[in-house]
Amino acid sequence: MEFEFSEKAAFQQYFGAAHEMVRRSIKEFVNGEIMPHVDQWEEEGAFPRELYKKAAEVGFLGIGYPEELGGTPGDVFFQIAAWEEVMRCGSGGVAAGLGSLNIALPPILNRGTDEQKQRFVKPVLAGDRIAALAITEPGGGSDVAGLQTTAVRDGDYYIVNGSKTFITSGCRADQITCAVRTGGPGPHGISLLVIESKTAGYSVSERLKKTGWWASDTAEIFFDNCRVPVENLIGEENQGFYGIMENFQVERLQLAVMANMTAQLALEESIQYAKQREAFGKVLTGFQVTRHKIVDMATLVEVSREFTYRVAAGIDAGLNRVKEISMAKNFACSVSDQVTYDAVQIFGGYGFMRGTVVERLFRDNRVLTIGGGTTEIMKEIISKLIL
Ligand SMILES: Cc1cc2nc3c(=O)[nH]c(=O)nc-3n(C[C@H](O)[C@H](O)[C@H](O)COP(=O)(O)OP(=O)(O)OC[C@H]3O[C@@H](n4cnc5c(N)ncnc54)[C@H](O)[C@@H]3O)c2cc1C
Repeated sequence: MEFEFSEKAAFQQYFGAAHEMVRRSIKEFVNGEIMPHVDQWEEEGAFPRELYKKAAEVGFLGIGYPEELGGTPGDVFFQIAAWEEVMRCGSGGVAAGLGSLNIALPPILNRGTDEQKQRFVKPVLAGDRIAALAITEPGGGSDVAGLQTTAVRDGDYYIVNGSKTFITSGCRADQITCAVRTGGPGPHGISLLVIESKTAGYSVSERLKKTGWWASDTAEIFFDNCRVPVENLIGEENQGFYGIMENFQVERLQLAVMANMTAQLALEESIQYAKQREAFGKVLTGFQVTRHKIVDMATLVEVSREFTYRVAAGIDAGLNRVKEISMAKNFACSVSDQVTYDAVQIFGGYGFMRGTVVERLFRDNRVLTIGGGTTEIMKEIISKLIL
């Protein structure tokens, strides 16, 4: 295999024997519980709810979370190893759906009370409840400071009105970590509330139909005079914007890893196909143009993965890596854009056919430059930090 040397080097630098054990157990889980069904789930547009319980039992959901909440603490490379292995199922939708807790729980973990962690984190890590993050609204996602869903204090409750859209795991979430306006306009009027789906006045749309990520449920959520107890406020009132911004580092890291793995899988599929597909009496790797295309793909994947790992190590060390993680996300997405495009090209007509892995990777990839902050928003962040 062409990549053995560099994989070993990366392994030695960032991953130790304990990470490898986690990787192996997640690989087994993916091979046993996801791979046999993934094509069917993609076509059906959902994976079964029980998969959360199974993912909890194998320890996947709790990786990186405190032990007292049912998690297994460890550095960020445990999560990266686990995310990479789940992405090996070839469905961004399964990975995104199973991973929605990783964007929903960190604000509660970082800013919530012990009681809130017991109530809203522990059962999610156990696979008994599903958590989603709800920031984006039909009127706009990039301009977080402009959000319009209101939460007006009424005694021991907030009365919530408005709507959220494009929410991953939104159809079946039992709880959402939701950004609401409790104060005046702009970033200083935003708070985070955990809203339970059983709350009167809370309703969800049908699953939204998407270009990719078919197996993940994506919903619009409506609030019609929802009475949310004040004890569900995460952190201080009107300080929610900072909780949202803190959260973006992990979300962007997760998306960079997804992009790198999307590219890695597209590359592996291309190598395998190009070695056996024949044209004009020889295999595709017999053409220099194909060999060079694959070399360019491999080079981009290696460079992007190394940079992402390096930024992750900085985040893990507690350093401010806002600029670098924004760069890593953008770079990884530009690589996965290029590599999935080239992979479809190498597959020719088969690359355009449903049922071919590269066809799904090509579709799933498209959302990565949009979710978790668009490429343009990443560039705005970077420009403010370097200019
Ligand atoms: C499949 C999927 C899953 C998602 N999951 C979630 C989720 O779980 N929770 C959640 O809260 N959200 C989720 N989102 C929403 C996602 O975060 C938003 O789509 C994203 O932030 C962009 O917001 P928007 O779609 O409203 O685009 P807009 O903000 O309307 O942007 C439209 C275009 O204008 C550009 N633009 C906007 N502002 C600027 C600027 N200042 N400078 C330059 N260009 C600019 C954007 O880059 C983009 O190209 C999901 C989206 C998708 C598609």
